[in-house]
Amino acid sequence: MAFSAGDEVVLALREFAARIDAYDPLPGPAVAEIHVGEQAVALRAPVVQALTEALRAYQDPRDRGTCDHCGGPRLDDNFVCADCGQPSGVFGQLLRERAARFESPDALPGA
Ligand SMILES: [Zn+2]
Repeated sequence: MAFSAGDEVVLALREFAARIDAYDPLPGPAVAEIHVGEQAVALRAPVVQALTEALRAYQDPRDRGTCDHCGGPRLDDNFVCADCGQPSGVFGQLLRERAARFESPDALPGA
């Protein structure tokens, strides 16, 4: 039987809950239940709080902040904005200043 993405989420939730539950000697009642497909994971209050904090603290590894020009969230590895095409941040400012001073070798006298 194949291990589905849903199974992986359920396993991760159960492992997460077990890690938090280990700190409470007197486990309380489940206050929430997360359903993934046919499966359900019951969560006690400390687990709900920890899971909420973990989800809010998550930062996608592709998140490089927002563009200085348009505020778009999609900066590439070189901090160039996928929305407006402008380089962002101090590096982007340096690039723009260098590009403004650039003279093509063909435009130089004697070329
Ligand atoms: Zn932009």
